[in-house]
Formats: sequence, C-alpha cells, structure tokens
Amino acid sequence: MSEKYVYTFGDGKAEGRADMKLLLGGKGANLAEMSNLGIPVPAGFTISTKVCSDFYNNGGKYNDPVVEQVKNGVQHIEKIMGAKFGDNSNPLLVSVRSGAPASMPGMMDTVLNLGLNDDTIKGITAQSNNERFGWDSYRRFIQMYGDVVMEMKPESKEEEDPFEVIIQEMKDSKALKLDTEMTAEDLKQLVSHFKQAIKKRTGKDFPTDPWEQLWGAISAVFRSWNNPRALTYRKLNNIPANWGTAVNVQSMVYGNMGDDCATGVAFTRDPATGVKKFYGEYLVNAQGEDVVAGIRNPQPVDESTKTGADQVTLESLMPEAYRELDRIYNLLERHYRDMQDIEFTIQKGKLWMLQTRNGKRTAEAAVRIAVEMVEEGLIDEQTAIMRIQPEQIDQLLHPKFDPSASKKVIAKGLPASPGAATGRIVFHADDAEEWFERGEQVILVRIETSPEDIGGMNVAQGILTSRGGMTSHAAVVARGMGTCCVAGCSDLNISYKNKTISVNGITLKEGDWISLDGSKGEVIEGKVPTVTPELSGNFGKIMAWADKKRRLKVRTNADTPHDSEVARNFGAEGIGLCRTEHMFFEGDRIRAVREMILANNEAGRRKALAKLLPYQKEDFYGIFKAMHDLPVTIRTLDPPLHEFLPNDEKSQQEMADEMGISREEVQQKVDSLHELNPMLGHRGCRLGITYPEITEMQARAIMEAACQLTKEGIKVYPEIMIPLVGTRAELANQKEVVKRVADEVQKEFGVKVDYLVGTMIEIPRAALTADEVAEEAEFFSFGTNDLTQMAFGYSRDDAGKFLREYIEGGILPEDPFQVLDQTGVGQLVEIAVKKGRQTRKDMKIGICGEHGGEPKSVAFCHRVGMNYVSCSPYRVPIARLAAAQEAIRTESK
Ligand code: ADP
Ligand code: MG
Ligand code: MG
Repeated sequence: MSEKYVYTFGDGKAEGRADMKLLLGGKGANLAEMSNLGIPVPAGFTISTKVCSDFYNNGGKYNDPVVEQVKNGVQHIEKIMGAKFGDNSNPLLVSVRSGAPASMPGMMDTVLNLGLNDDTIKGITAQSNNERFGWDSYRRFIQMYGDVVMEMKPESKEEEDPFEVIIQEMKDSKALKLDTEMTAEDLKQLVSHFKQAIKKRTGKDFPTDPWEQLWGAISAVFRSWNNPRALTYRKLNNIPANWGTAVNVQSMVYGNMGDDCATGVAFTRDPATGVKKFYGEYLVNAQGEDVVAGIRNPQPVDESTKTGADQVTLESLMPEAYRELDRIYNLLERHYRDMQDIEFTIQKGKLWMLQTRNGKRTAEAAVRIAVEMVEEGLIDEQTAIMRIQPEQIDQLLHPKFDPSASKKVIAKGLPASPGAATGRIVFHADDAEEWFERGEQVILVRIETSPEDIGGMNVAQGILTSRGGMTSHAAVVARGMGTCCVAGCSDLNISYKNKTISVNGITLKEGDWISLDGSKGEVIEGKVPTVTPELSGNFGKIMAWADKKRRLKVRTNADTPHDSEVARNFGAEGIGLCRTEHMFFEGDRIRAVREMILANNEAGRRKALAKLLPYQKEDFYGIFKAMHDLPVTIRTLDPPLHEFLPNDEKSQQEMADEMGISREEVQQKVDSLHELNPMLGHRGCRLGITYPEITEMQARAIMEAACQLTKEGIKVYPEIMIPLVGTRAELANQKEVVKRVADEVQKEFGVKVDYLVGTMIEIPRAALTADEVAEEAEFFSFGTNDLTQMAFGYSRDDAGKFLREYIEGGILPEDPFQVLDQTGVGQLVEIAVKKGRQTRKDMKIGICGEHGGEPKSVAFCHRVGMNYVSCSPYRVPIARLAAAQEAIRTESK
C-alpha cells in the first residue's frame, strides 16, 4: 500500500484529528475534529503538509499516489454531497484552502466556487433556480482564481486591484452603489470582461476544465508557502520553513444564494478585552471574505453586542440558525477549552461551520480569558499561566494616554486593538518602513490593509483604517502584533494620491502628528502625553499564580530610588545590578569626577573622591531604603575614564574654564586617556586596581549607607560586585580593599551588616576558571552583554553594521545581544555555574545582562540552575511569567 497523503472528512466522520496539525495544518485538523464532534462541516479532504515538501523537492510535480488519492477524495465529497465534479447538470463546486500547522492569517489565499465553467454554470443556475447567484459565484471564482493562480495583481502600489477596477467601471456605468445591486446580466458581463482582462494581461485563457482548475489551485497554495508575505510572517513568528502547508479541498456551501443565506465570523469571547460575550459579525447574502473585506458594513451576530439601534442581529433575523450557532460555539469552547475564532455560512437557513481555531487576542484579553476560564473550571492555574505569552504582557505594562490631558478627537472608529500610539502619518507600508529606518515614529493610515502591508504594520506605532470591521485584516493582524489599531473609521476621507486625510473640515498631511486610542477607537490630532498603567485585578492573579510556580527569583537593574520603587511594584525581589557610574554624571558630581581624573597624584585624587563620597552615600541610602529587606547588588566603577571627559572643543573649553585650567591641559588628559579598544582597555576592576582609592571611596559610601540604615532598624543586604574580572588575583586584590574598608566602617558605626563581595562573570577566562575565581567570589552574576561581546568577538558598539545582514541572511538566528546564544555563550555560562559551585557549593548565581528579561534566555537560566535573573523594571513581570512557565515545562518532563 502506498503512503497516505489525503485525509477525508464530512458526514460526522473524519480520518484526521485536532492533534494532527503538523500533518494536516491547523485548518484541516480542526475541520476533521469538528466533523468527528458531529458538527455540520461541508465534506472535503486535506492534502497533507508532506505533499508540500515533496512538491518543492520534485520541481512542482505530484507522484501517482497523490494524484490517485485526490481523485478518491473528490469522489468522497461527491458521494456525501450528491453532486458530481465537472458535471453539467448537477455540478459539485469546491473551495481550495491553504492551512499551515501554525495559523498564518491572510498569508495564503483561498479559491472559492472552483469547478465553474460556461457549462457547469448552467447546472448551478438551474439547480438553484437563481441566475444571479450563479453568475455572482462565477465572477467571484474568476476573480479569486485570476488573482491567486494566474497572478492578476495590481502592478504598482498606486494601482487598484484590476478586477475591482472593472467592477467599479460596471457600477459607474449603471450608477450602482453596492455590489449587491448588480443584476445577473451585469455579473454575466463581468465574467466575460474578467476573462478578457486575464487573457490580455497574462496571454493565457482561463482554464475551463475543472480538474485543471483544481490542480492549478492546489499548486498555487503550495507555491504561496514561499511567497514574500508568508516568508515575512514566518520570520516574525519563528515558524520553521520546513513545516509546509496543507491544502483543504471542500464542498462549497453558499451564503450568497439569497436573503435566507449569510456568512460570518465570530469569536467566542471578545478578543480585545476578553469579556465573555459571543462576539461575531455577519452579512446577509454574502460569501467568503465579504465580512472582513469591508465591502458592506457587517452586522452583529448577538443581541448583547449591538452598538446601534439600526443594526439587525443574526439572533433576531435568523433565530433558528442563531440557536444552532450558539449551541455549537459553546460546544467548541468547552471542547477546546480555549477561546475560539470561528467561520460559518448559512445556506437557506442551514448552518455550516467552516473553521475553528484558538483565537488571537490582546494581552488584556489573554489574561482575562485565562483567569476566567480557571474560575469557570475549564482550565487549571498551570494551564492559565502557559496561555499567556510573556512578550505579550509588555502591552499591559506600557503607558496609556494621560486621562487628564486635553485631546482633540477628530474622528471615531472601531477600537480594534488597544493601546495608545502617537506618530507621524504615512500612507503606504513601504513608506512606514522607510521612515522607521530613519528613526521616525509613524502611524500607518490606510483605507484598508492587506497582507502585503505586514512589514509596514510591524514597524508602525499604530494603524488606522477607514474601512473594515473588528475582524478586518488590519484589526486581526494588529491585535496579534500588540500594535494599537483603530479600524473602520468611515468618517475619514483618505486620498493616497494627495497623501491627505480629511475629516470634518480638517485636513492632515503625510508627516503630520496624530494619536490613536485603540481602546476607545479615537483618532486624535497631534501628540498626547501618556501615563503608566496599574497592575492589579486579573493580571495580579496570573502573576500570583506564576510566583507560586517559579523557582528563579527576579531582580531588577536599577540605578535610582525611583526606578527601584517602580520595579518593586512590578514584583522585583531585589536589585541585580546598580551601575554606579550613572550617578557620576549628575549636577556637581561630574565636576568632582573630572577633578579626580585630572589629578596627577593619589593625594589629589583622594581630595576629589572625598567630595564624591557624600553624594554616593546618599544615592545608596535611597536605593537601600527603597529595597529594604531585599538584596542590592552594587557594581563598582566600570567604564573607562575618558567617558567622563568632553570630546569636542567647546565643551573642553567650558570644562577648562570651570576648573581654572587651560584647554590644552584638558586636551592633553583626553589624549592620554585615548585607547584603541576602550572596551578592552583600562576599565572595570583594572581601574580599581590601579586606583584603589576609587574602590575605597565606593566601598565606604556603600557601607556607611548600609550601617546607617541598620542603625535605623532597616534591613539591608548589600552585595558588592567587582566588574570585568578575568583572574582570581584581580578579584582578590579588590576584595581585600572592600573588606578592609567594610571592617573599618562597621567598627566606626558599631553595627554589623550582612554583605557579600562577588564578581561579574563577563570575561570568558573568568568563566573557564570559575572554580578559582569562586575561591574569592561570594556570588557570581553573569554580565552577558560583555560576555557575548567577548565570546563572539563582536564589538557591541559596532555590531550594528553587520548584525542585521547576519540575521537576515540566516548566518545568525537572532541578535545574540537580545537573545542569549545558548550554544556558545551558554556553554561558558554552564561551565562557570558548574565550576563555581564545585568550589562554593551554595553560591548565589544570577544574570544581569539584557538577556535577564528575555523569555527564552530566562528559561535557559532556570535550566542551568541560577538563583535569579535581573532585568529592567518593565521586564520584571515578563521574567516572572517566563520563569514560571519554564518551571512548569521542566516539571512536566
Ligand atoms: P483564511 O485562511 O484566510 O481564513 P479560508 O480558507 O478560511 O481562508 O477561506 C476564506 C473564506 O472563504 C472564509 O470566509 C471561509 O469561510 C470561506 N470559505 C472557505 N471554504 C468555503 C466553502 N467550502 N464554502 C463556503 N465558504 C467557504
Ligand atoms: Mg484569507
Ligand atoms: Mg478562515
């Protein structure tokens, strides 16, 4: 027997199942699952993803078993539907639909009504006794097939869709407004105009043989797996190229047969807010994508979601079909235990389900749905935690518009994707990308968006459209990206030609600033200030559940009492990195720092450092107090000293004047500090070793602040961290200085402070000799920014010149400065953890590089057995969630 390539479904049975997504694609697997559940699904079959890779390997050819099995598949449909493919009196029409293992909305196109030609059309119209319906289906088929298979597309971005142009001409010549006003005769003419246009542009006749049509459509779906939009989407979402797509061939059901027919899409809960309401839209006498294409205004399905008195819900219009839909959506949600995104069609009052999948949702909705499903007993806490994407909750932590700010709302559209965005107007996706490259903040304004716009949508702060509903392309994609979006703002008059938006007497041009409130659907003229959101309610519940599960502690990188407090509110359990040099720049301090640098001997340096001491002490006092009862890691001075001196002549002159010396003296000092590779030069512990008085001052400031707070009854846990250590001796040198000063200060204050002295592991040599370094170090903290720089030999400051090409060209999978390179740099980390703990069994180990808030890297830190990760304040909740998810994952292994 030959291998199985084709899986049938329909009539309450199926050969596939929901868990066969990799083989059948998401759409096919779920169509099979619905069939098995006894839900009415038009009969069909799925050609597996295996055939997609064969298709590419065999130069676009199919082997005999595939051809044979597709034939049998068509027979299977014919039997159930009682119609025959290509038959003139009783023709079967099918849809050909793509469906990849991971949902890729709008990435690949569907062909409907396939099987129509000048003969079968007669059967269709005779059978339905509806000429108009027949010709409407036929012109749709040519339009879709022409676009997807024969590549009749706009030739430039200014040009409109060639078929739409023809339709518009037809409507204009008859003074018609809506597509639905076209008569059977009009549509018949369209069919012939379409065919002529295709012949003229492509030189090819429109295929009349249904089997040729079928194989043409199947191959087009396979080809579309590698079209540019699909490639972009896959890259953005890390979907492997070798998965391939499946193809679904399915009997047509008709929502366009008359006024007792309809088609619609729905979410079982509100995808923007998560509110438990059946959230759908439908159109009477319509087919396929009409609902999302924004041709007519869709109507709400459910009475509870009505927003205007003039709306007619499906519930009131077709109560019987509605009740069936209500039963099915509840069944689906209970079955999948997740919010579903469904497609349905009603043909002559009978409901057919065409798709179900787990619905995309905003972060706010994700959190609310997860929590409420736990409360409803549908899922457990652990599942709820796994349902939230850590990166996604970023959306919840980010600012919203300041409610007290005055705003000039110029128009209102649909609140399609929440958030607040401010930027400059651009009208084309390419322009959005271009402007973004130049460092501009843009809002992409379109009549409607299409999959080609994905790149521009991705870089835009916000997206605004004048057409389309809550389920339009713009809305769905924006929600998935977490980008703010206002859709269907029909008051706007958008001119691509003049690059203007006009609304109520106001005209805005390309480049003007506007703001969008995606939660309210408001379009606002100019810029609006923003405020930080609160983190309570459902979010608080998820985080509390996550905290019960995770084993990693989460600290923050903070240099000021204010940042420390923000981070504490986000759940930080200490500071993992306080960079002292940031404190050197403020106000009078920089003067003292420069005095120290200019001093030619130790005495001069000590004098200047004495001026800095009270400032540093005050800083540490504030931070320790904000972080009372929690550990605070303070790193001693790290950057090369030249960073504190001015580079240009004017600032050097100013500095000279202030210090009462000549500009030449300043210049000389700058020259003498000049280094060829400053990042590998005189910095980190090398400074403290050559100038121990700097370390002494810092140790004194830390310990005086700590002792004082201890006396005040506040618990502090300073961890003094020596940077850029490569050998044990370097650390021993600095530790001796710190310990000596710490002893002195504790004696002076008459108190004891629980403090540690440790080091950053950021030089490969230190990682490799961690057993030796650990003889001195009381803790390790991985400085993975420098460790990555030195392991790869990429200068962090210069890597921008080639990293992008590396990533786009597939030489690197990701930017190693954002996502920890687990294979290479990760090995150094693992070695250091293992060797460090060989020497000091219970050593506290953490990470304080950028990677400490990146979910995949956090998971890695969990696996190698670190005690904590430390990241910027806004990433703390992300890290908490990522740590919990990894704990759950490893537990269930
Ligand atoms: P997408 O992946 O873009 O959602 P689909 O394959 O789901 O594409 O199809 C696009 C549209 O065509 C949807 O609205 C769907 O409901 C409709 N459709 C697909 N197959 C059929 C069919 N057999 N009968 C009627 N409508 C269909
Ligand atoms: Mg589509
Ligand atoms: Mg669909």
